[in-house]
Amino acid sequence: MENTTQDFNRELMLDANATAGLLYEIFGLEMTAAPTECANCGNEGEIGTLLAFTHGPGIVLRCSACEQVMIRIVQTPEAIYLDARGAVYLRLALPKPKSQPVMENDSLGG
Ligand SMILES: [Zn+2]
Repeated sequence: MENTTQDFNRELMLDANATAGLLYEIFGLEMTAAPTECANCGNEGEIGTLLAFTHGPGIVLRCSACEQVMIRIVQTPEAIYLDARGAVYLRLALPKPKSQPVMENDSLGG
């Protein structure tokens, strides 16, 4: 009998885009296109290209090159735990500001 642990893990694997909903909930931003870099091998790519495992408690995102764990996210009823020690950085692009009306009644204590 062959030991096919890796194939087993691959079966549990989802594309990180499957986690886009939760990431959006946490960051309030569209995260799948956010660039990140693996702290282990230096591979750079978008979060949407990472290997996502969602069968554990929470979500694990692994590097698509070396499969090192880059980001862990666990959501409890009280809080969200984010462990990103496997990533050199996460770049969160701010949404482009919409043209908002200028506040004219801004006379505090006047
Ligand atoms: Zn890597």
